[in-house]
Amino acid sequence: MKSERNLALGVDIGGTKVAAGLVDESGNILFQTRVAMPARESAEAGFAAVQSAIEAVFATQPSAKSLLKGIGICAPGPLDPLTGVILNPPNVPCWRNFPLADEVRRVFGISARVDNDGNAAALAEAIWGAGVGYRNVFYATLGTGIGAGVVFDGRIYHGRTGSAAEGGHLTIDYHGPKCGCGKRGCIEAFCSGPAIARRAKEKLAAAGRGESRILPLAGGSTDAVTAEIVAEAVRQGDVLAAETLRETADLLAIWVGNVIDLLEPDVFIFGGGVAQLMSGFFGRMQEQLASWCVNTRAGEMPMVLAKYGSDAGIAGAAALCHL
Ligand SMILES: [Zn+2]
Repeated sequence: MKSERNLALGVDIGGTKVAAGLVDESGNILFQTRVAMPARESAEAGFAAVQSAIEAVFATQPSAKSLLKGIGICAPGPLDPLTGVILNPPNVPCWRNFPLADEVRRVFGISARVDNDGNAAALAEAIWGAGVGYRNVFYATLGTGIGAGVVFDGRIYHGRTGSAAEGGHLTIDYHGPKCGCGKRGCIEAFCSGPAIARRAKEKLAAAGRGESRILPLAGGSTDAVTAEIVAEAVRQGDVLAAETLRETADLLAIWVGNVIDLLEPDVFIFGGGVAQLMSGFFGRMQEQLASWCVNTRAGEMPMVLAKYGSDAGIAGAAALCHL
């Protein structure tokens, strides 16, 4: 018999906001709301924001509570998805070893699961999004950082302690730029949005101000250069900007090659704002794989854009209730 409980409440916790939404069993987001996250205040204040986001959903959708399978929560790591404890995330310093899943269960009397952003978004793509029809999904979000998630047969691969799939911190160059994690040459230190802007600025400095469109688009300020501005300069025919994004594609291809040699996923899904900017280069990346992968059939693996955009957190959190 089909369950009456066919909705999930997804809560997406970030460094500045908590978004919460109702998601049906096909992955459609029916309703969503958001509140500010006081991530640098007390643990209680942080939890009060989560509580008020969830209560705001119930206030607007009072009938939803009886239809809920559970409450899924995604948050920045490190966290323990097996126990639902938030460990010591740099972006949410209010929580240190905070038992978030237990607290949500205690307050609302509804089962709750917690996982990190990358794993949760990967699961939503695998069961409802661009990964539908594929058994083994590798998901990467390219944005301010690079997050990742691995889903095998509809289940998140967590590793021994829940810390697997830190794909953004695979290094491709031990002489490379220092990453926020402390390592050198992580793909995040080359291809996150800020890293793309940094490489463009390095090229500008080396080339002199010259003819590039990048600085005028940034209002003349190198501090204002972003990956989006680099992409806009490419659209306006800027040579240096185009070289920056081609190089980004080539760096990503090395990394994708490593992932394929280790996991050989059926599909590689890219989410996040930088993925949109890079989607025109997926073909180039596929061609480059021959140089960076021992797998002779690597070029067959589809590279696709994620279905969920800024809603990936809510959808991902809700997907956790469908495990
Ligand atoms: Zn790193």
